[in-house]
Amino acid sequence: MQGFFPSSTLVKNKPASMVPRCGACGLLKTSKTPKMDVFGKGLRGVLVVGEAPGETEDDESRPFVGKAGQYLRDTLEEFGFDLDRDAWTTNALICRPPGNKTPDAKQIDYCRPNLVNTIAQLQPTVILTLGRVALTSVMHDYWDNIGTMERWTGWKIPMPKHWICPTYHPSFLLRSRNGLMDRYFANDVKRAFSIKKAPPAAQDFKSQIECLYDEREIYEAIRQMDREGGWAAVDYEGNCLKPEYPKAMIRSCCIANEQRCISYPWHGKAIEATGMFLRSKRTRKIASNLKHEERWTRWAFGHGVTNWGWDTMLASHVLDNRLGICSLKFQALVKLGVAIYNEHIDPYLTSNGHYNQIQEIAIEDLLFYGGMDGVLELQLAKIQRMEMGFED
Ligand code: URA
Repeated sequence: MQGFFPSSTLVKNKPASMVPRCGACGLLKTSKTPKMDVFGKGLRGVLVVGEAPGETEDDESRPFVGKAGQYLRDTLEEFGFDLDRDAWTTNALICRPPGNKTPDAKQIDYCRPNLVNTIAQLQPTVILTLGRVALTSVMHDYWDNIGTMERWTGWKIPMPKHWICPTYHPSFLLRSRNGLMDRYFANDVKRAFSIKKAPPAAQDFKSQIECLYDEREIYEAIRQMDREGGWAAVDYEGNCLKPEYPKAMIRSCCIANEQRCISYPWHGKAIEATGMFLRSKRTRKIASNLKHEERWTRWAFGHGVTNWGWDTMLASHVLDNRLGICSLKFQALVKLGVAIYNEHIDPYLTSNGHYNQIQEIAIEDLLFYGGMDGVLELQLAKIQRMEMGFED
């Protein structure tokens, strides 16, 4: 089987058209200001993306001049910012939907190339998305299925070329009349407009992950990593969630410490070395939802893991107890700017009854995927320890 991952990128690679399908949604004909231009000077490098022009915007041929726009402008003024001076403004749809109807998925898709081209042209440092429609369009290449807006607001997501800062849509806040949400919104907007530096460059994971196949080499590598001590993330890839199922098996494992990340098939002396590593006191172990790694370890070796040091899933919850944010994939996106990286193998990892189809994944793809998990757990744990004040 061929490798699944394109070597150049880990970003989801949907065949999205770069040509807008203006006319396909019918809004060109009904708008007074079809294809509304981007507005503003953008002196702070912020691109504000809304949903679609409303009635006032359509009448005046300018984004954000109606009630919701005024709410945004007033919020910015509190902090000394000016929408037209400091930002550029546009929308996920650049024609007004009659009656301000919420755009559907097709309309968002047809119009997305306009937004993609605007981003490419302006190269903003920050993209502030207002509401679900704007977020859906901006996140298209990075995340499927946005879920609740609540879990997205307030993050400062470091994508390779810009920060993405999602927040609520002002018209939602005007309807909600909830003082607390107003403050969240104000904080989100202030944070986005205060960013000065571009996000860090994208990481090259291919160079960080070593896929090893030779059991002697794996054995030596694990023994060396044990001698090094410090922190190490451990991640199994198995054919089911719980090892108590009769046909349970581990197919590969990854160990990542500050020096290296190795990902290897589960065989021979590699298993023996992993057992010794997990029983050793020298390394502080990290996992995402460690109860699973603990359970599989007990099943495989008859003993648990010695010296658990960190659980990224638990720490995510301690730092922020919103629903739907604790998975490694979500945290990797919002904290490290790593877009979903298991899309190609995901169908094989999804359980069909008790078991997934892991044995059908090409081993080099599985090892790379497991390696990504390990590297990201290690990096995330470090950030979390810093956020909690355990490390500088
Ligand atoms: N005005 C806009 O231009 N866009 C919105 O999303 C809301 C108001």
